[in-house]
Amino acid sequence: MKYPKLRELREAVKALIKGPYTSKFPYEPYIAENFRGKPEYVEDECIGCGACAEVCPARAIDVVEKINRNGKSTRKLVLHYDICIFCGQCVANCTSEKGIKQTHEYALALFDRKLAVEEVEKELVLCQECGEVIGPRDHLVFLANKLGLLASGNPLLMLTSQEELGLLKEDPAEKSSPEGRANMFRVLCPKCRHETVLTDIWG
Ligand code: SF4
Ligand code: SF4
Repeated sequence: MKYPKLRELREAVKALIKGPYTSKFPYEPYIAENFRGKPEYVEDECIGCGACAEVCPARAIDVVEKINRNGKSTRKLVLHYDICIFCGQCVANCTSEKGIKQTHEYALALFDRKLAVEEVEKELVLCQECGEVIGPRDHLVFLANKLGLLASGNPLLMLTSQEELGLLKEDPAEKSSPEGRANMFRVLCPKCRHETVLTDIWG
C-alpha cells in the first residue's frame, strides 16, 4: 500500500512542475502538424480536371457545368465541407499536385449548411464545330506544357496553347468554308476532327 501512494505523490509533484498535460482548447487552438482540416482550392494551380471529385469517397465534391454556346462556358467544382470526411484523398490525387490543399482550419460550424462550400470555377473549351464540351482550358494548357514539343502532334493541344498565347485570335473557318482545309485549324472535339481529316483526305 505504501508504494502506490509514493508513486502518486511523485506524479503530483511532476505535474506541478511541468504543468497540465491537457491543451487549453478552446482558449488556445491545439493543432498537430499533420492535422487534416478544411480542404481549399488554389485557383491559380487548379486546372479544373475534376479528378478530386472522382476520388472523393464521401462524394463531397460536385462538378457543375454551365454551357453557353454563344459565350463563356464554365465548370465549377463545389466542395461541400459539411459532407467532407477530411480524408485528404483529393489532395493526394490532385492532377496538378497543387490545385487543392488541406488547411489546419477546423472551426467550421455554421448556422446555414448551404454556406459550407468551397468553390473554384474554370472556363470550358467547346468544339468549334458541334459545340460539345472538350474540357477546361487550363487542363488543356497544362497537358500542352507537360508534353512540351510533343504537344505539337496533337492539333487540339497545339491550337489551345496558341490561343492562350494570343497567336490564334479568330476562328479560321470564318474566313473560308468550314468544310474546307481551314477546318483543320479549328479547335475540334475528337469526333469532328476525325470527320474533318476523312473529308480532307477522301473529299
Ligand atoms: S478530404 Fe476526402 S472527403 Fe473531403 S473533399 Fe477531399 S476527398 Fe472528399
Ligand atoms: S487540379 Fe486538382 S483540385 Fe483542381 S480539379 Fe483537378 S484534381 Fe481537383
